[in-house]
Amino acid sequence: MKKKLLNAIALFSLCVATVIISIHSSQAEMLEGVRIGPANANQSAVVTPANATDAPAAPTPAYACALQPPNPPPKKPTPPANVNPGKISLSRFRQVTRVAATPEETATNPAEKTELSQGTPIVRRSPAVVLPSYSPKEEIALAHYTNYGERFARDLYGKPAKNDPIIVLHETVATAQSAVNLFQTPHFWDDSSQVSYHALIRRNGAVIYVVPPDKRAFGAGNSIFKGSQGDETVKTNPDFPPSVNNFAYHISLETPSDGFNNAYRHSGYTAAQYQSLAWLAARTGVPESRITTHKAVDRSGSRMDPRSFDYKRFFGLLKAYPRQTEIVIGCADPSAV
Ligand SMILES: [Zn+2]
Repeated sequence: MKKKLLNAIALFSLCVATVIISIHSSQAEMLEGVRIGPANANQSAVVTPANATDAPAAPTPAYACALQPPNPPPKKPTPPANVNPGKISLSRFRQVTRVAATPEETATNPAEKTELSQGTPIVRRSPAVVLPSYSPKEEIALAHYTNYGERFARDLYGKPAKNDPIIVLHETVATAQSAVNLFQTPHFWDDSSQVSYHALIRRNGAVIYVVPPDKRAFGAGNSIFKGSQGDETVKTNPDFPPSVNNFAYHISLETPSDGFNNAYRHSGYTAAQYQSLAWLAARTGVPESRITTHKAVDRSGSRMDPRSFDYKRFFGLLKAYPRQTEIVIGCADPSAV
């Protein structure tokens, strides 16, 4: 059993090591680089009633970015601002928005009036939209501060880095617990050894928040997002290739045990994981066209996660949820504040 666990950890480390090696490689190969899209063309053209009715305006980020990456980079990472490990709560990862409980509920409802007076945002929905009642268990397992950092308002050269957020999907290639253990292990020696995702989804569907959404998790090394606005990537360190980390929200699915290896596929993810992923992604407000995978953004040619992912199933579930911005990916430009 112990041997099995060690083996799993070793494989996961291998997965992460590949990222680390890839960001060291200045001669990155071009790879497939195709962003994933909805299961078919029709889906991408359809805006669901939920999206059309409920999509809120992008909120003002509560926290400021760092202005510009230091050059030369600091020898040691410093604790990010506005994160208190001893007092961290769910609201640091997701601002809960109350969705109207029934289609009939109106602003004349006394309960809603009370909530409005307390400033809790309420998402209105079309009476025609039936919301899933699904609600995953949520956990907090904050990464050690050496494994993530600030997002920057400008790139290394001082050019504004105003990319809209993207979601990058991954898999752990090990148990969720061994991934959490790795992220909570200090990595002091240099920036390249930082490893983290923003959130993990266990096999049972539980969502584990690891890095606050206004911070930069280190989920991808040498990487580019190829979307409708062209190639998007941000250079934040003179010693490494640019990456999508500055504007990415990284979500990782716990791999089934038959996938703790480098095979091309495995038995896939659970129904609860797909539900939780749709639930979580909807709460970021990120459009389908900006939801991608590690495999698609990677430029090292070595990443293929998430393997055996059912895109059609995920995007089908995602459409059932109203888009919200409970999870604010990004931060305010400090020079504009
Ligand atoms: Zn990955």
